[in-house]
Amino acid sequence: MSELKKIGFVGTGIMGSAMVGHLLDAGFEVSVYNRTKSKAQPLIERGARWCESAGDCAKGQDVVITIVGYPKDVEQVYLAEGGIVDSAQSGAYLVDMTTSSPVVAEKIYAAAKAKNLHAVDAPVTGGDTGAKNATLTILVGGDEADFNALKPVFEVLGKNIVHEGGAGAGQKTKACNQIAIAGALAGACEAFAYAKASGLDIEKVYAAISTGAAGSVQMTGVARRGLDGDFKPGFMLKHLGKDLAIGNETATAYGQALPVLALVLHEIRKMENAGLGSEGTQALLKYYGVID
Ligand code: NAP
Repeated sequence: MSELKKIGFVGTGIMGSAMVGHLLDAGFEVSVYNRTKSKAQPLIERGARWCESAGDCAKGQDVVITIVGYPKDVEQVYLAEGGIVDSAQSGAYLVDMTTSSPVVAEKIYAAAKAKNLHAVDAPVTGGDTGAKNATLTILVGGDEADFNALKPVFEVLGKNIVHEGGAGAGQKTKACNQIAIAGALAGACEAFAYAKASGLDIEKVYAAISTGAAGSVQMTGVARRGLDGDFKPGFMLKHLGKDLAIGNETATAYGQALPVLALVLHEIRKMENAGLGSEGTQALLKYYGVID
């Protein structure tokens, strides 16, 4: 058990709920806040203390962890008047695990530093399964001493925990991850669209190609779920759209054109516009007509 004992946790959605569960099991005193209270109810029943706002959730805590939706949500919970930066006690650690923008992470780091708070960006990979099994990969940007202090907390949530560099470096690494996923996900779904259109047996194609050079987590995890008819969202398309937009915008700012990323983003936006944003990424199989 870490010397850091009291944790305020903001955002108890798909990822956050599982993560708070592990923190409770590990013996931390956890306070929670979520925009929709009902999503925190099972955690309250397991012993988490409910707070009425993100700022309240930050008061008196050793560590404040957030995993909300979009960069605008991150800015709001940290930087709004009465938010986390205003409310946290001097010396507290602030850990944003949302997939957000590196620019926002740098802004929070600077605002926190001015108030003697230790902010790190620590987005995760590994999906809802990684959150449930506490096997997340955690990509950390910020001061190395803060990374070391927070490691016992991270170890409750994940397995592969890497300090990537200064403020924003965790979010930049997460953008690399999502850029790699974009092509792998679209490629896996397009392969099965081709299989169907050409009259092949999709299961035989899956058996043949999923374990070879074409295999990937996107194929054996995400596409497999869809092929099995499991469309319960694990990672929502609207969040993938957000992530790819962050990658696209920051790549442009760094002078880099990434055409495959831009194309997949365009297709995801079309799906969002068709009202599919809250579907899981396996819904791409429906979009391509592989599954009705
Ligand atoms: P989610 O189920 O939508 O959870 C986000 C939670 O944050 C929601 O419960 C939402 O409240 C809450 N929230 C948003 N803005 C808030 C605010 N201003 N104040 C308080 N609560 C707020 O999404 P998720 O799948 O857990 O993903 C969370 C983040 O992790 C996203 O950035 C996503 O890209 C990233 N991520 C997800 C996965 C995955 O596989 N799911 C994997 C890696 C990273 P409401 O209940 O009111 O909507």
